[in-house]
Amino acid sequence: MTGSIHCRNCGAPADPRRQRCEYCGAWQGFEPSQPWNLLFHSRKARRRFIYPLLIAAGCLLMFYIYGVAFDRLSETTLVRLTPLWFFLIVFGIYGYVAEKLLAAVYAGESADVPAALGKWLRQTISRHPLFGIFAAVLLFPFLLIKAKSSLPVAFIGSMLWGILLLLFFVFAFPAL
Ligand SMILES: [Zn+2]
Repeated sequence: MTGSIHCRNCGAPADPRRQRCEYCGAWQGFEPSQPWNLLFHSRKARRRFIYPLLIAAGCLLMFYIYGVAFDRLSETTLVRLTPLWFFLIVFGIYGYVAEKLLAAVYAGESADVPAALGKWLRQTISRHPLFGIFAAVLLFPFLLIKAKSSLPVAFIGSMLWGILLLLFFVFAFPAL
């Protein structure tokens, strides 16, 4: 095994003689002519393209709704559009968090994403209790998801927040 070659999906050291990454199972050496593969099975593409784009799209939508279209939209529409931009921004941010947690899993330090977050939370809460509890609340979806790739982890995590936000609006503003 050489130190210079890394899995494109998870970043773990890769053995050039193997066709699949022994950590995450991603196929190595796929053809660059398959953009679909390149986009979804490349850690670099996710971190430099997919997640920043989702955050940017969420921010743009938020600025459009509150900055440009605010006067034209009814209060009901404004409230109903909130979970959408919120979901996009959380999806992008959670993507980076999922990559960090999965890196610990692929490095063999934790069994899965919930275990990796649990370990980090225990260390953080013992040092900075308030910050640790705040982080636990913000990151709670990761304690429930065991997927081995950051895209599904981030998607399910941000969907949970979107649904919670929808429920909150239905509960807080039953008239809408
Ligand atoms: Zn891998």
